[in-house]
Amino acid sequence: MNSVEIAVVGAGPAGLSAALAAARQGATVALIERDERLGGQLIKQTHKFFGSGRQEAGTRGFVIARRLAAAVEEEPGIEVRLASTVLGYYSDKVLYLETPDGLSRLRAERTIMATGAAERMLPFAGNDRPGVYGAGAVQTLMNVHGVRPGKRVLMVGAGNIGLIVSYQLLQARVEVAAVVEAAPFIGGYLVHAAKIRRAGVPILTGHSVKEAVGEREVQGAVVWRLDEKWHPLPGTEEPVDCDVICLATGLTPLSELMWQAGCKMVYLPELGGHVAWHDEDMRTTVEDVYVAGDSSGVEEASAAMVGGRLAGLCAAASLGHDRGVADKKAAAREELAALRAGPTGERIRTGLAGLRKAGGLG
Ligand SMILES: Cc1cc2nc3c(=O)[nH]c(=O)nc-3n(C[C@H](O)[C@H](O)[C@H](O)COP(=O)(O)OP(=O)(O)OC[C@H]3O[C@@H](n4cnc5c(N)ncnc54)[C@H](O)[C@@H]3O)c2cc1C
Repeated sequence: MNSVEIAVVGAGPAGLSAALAAARQGATVALIERDERLGGQLIKQTHKFFGSGRQEAGTRGFVIARRLAAAVEEEPGIEVRLASTVLGYYSDKVLYLETPDGLSRLRAERTIMATGAAERMLPFAGNDRPGVYGAGAVQTLMNVHGVRPGKRVLMVGAGNIGLIVSYQLLQARVEVAAVVEAAPFIGGYLVHAAKIRRAGVPILTGHSVKEAVGEREVQGAVVWRLDEKWHPLPGTEEPVDCDVICLATGLTPLSELMWQAGCKMVYLPELGGHVAWHDEDMRTTVEDVYVAGDSSGVEEASAAMVGGRLAGLCAAASLGHDRGVADKKAAAREELAALRAGPTGERIRTGLAGLRKAGGLG
């Protein structure tokens, strides 16, 4: 069986940053990714990132992925294992991997789980018809494989993801019939909303999808109005001509491995659902297991990169690779606080307050 000082599970912005930080401290790292390339969600993000210049704002997501991947490939302390899925973590610090050559085991003194998040499904009649997609799947089809998902899309959700993917659909010459949003307001940045409105796409707040129309695949949709408690108002149904219903209704941390490893889990809706309890070093209740990125609470790539760096530094320091770590950790924490400041960070601050209430982040 192979062994390594630090295993990082997932090579999105959090895992790439964690691997780099740990290796630069002098640790040996195995970076394990189930996909065939490095970058996680970033590889499908063609828009320029918002946020702070310190975390690459103004750069397109896939360019950030390329930069991080190039840095990882140049780092001799990191062994990259692509097309390899971690199936389980066991108490003797052993990870089970499914690889192109079959099952294998890896013993790691520390493991950083950076597995990202999954898209939320929405219950409505016909939601299992071909033509109902998550926004991430639509992005993968268009921006990774160059395939249009259909001709005319009903977007569900007016957060940043729904608005950005709507714009990307328009750029790919796919019509967007409308964006429906259950809340009485637009959740995403108004600059994104303005762009798609200028292109003639109506954004219907206080609305949701009632059903998908079509026997074998989506051939239309019915939307209806909701009251202030998000209850549908019968009699307000309207048909929508579309062949795709795209769901951008939020993300939830991919936390199966943390459950299976025996980490204490805390339900924090503001962070997307169940997350592994962790302290300010990103360490979980299973002493050798750390978390980072969306799997530790759904935020953004900017926070994932800084949180990943912090987890990598702390995991390496716990193995004696602690050169200059105090200052580096302080700098990362400051960056995270800055990213979470202001009105846009309120949801995250509330989630983290819940984690503190459960005794975490101390
Ligand atoms: C449309 C859209 C627009 C966005 N725009 C922005 C933006 O402008 N600015 C911004 O900061 N953020 C943005 N984000 C958010 C950002 O993409 C995510 O917050 C970020 O990618 C999270 O990083 P991560 O590393 O935690 O997870 P991910 O990027 O999801 O990476 C997780 C990786 O783990 C791998 N993995 C999972 N399970 C296993 C396993 N068992 N074994 C091996 N590998 C595994 C996955 O394959 C994946 O590669 C956007 C998101 C979307 C969907």
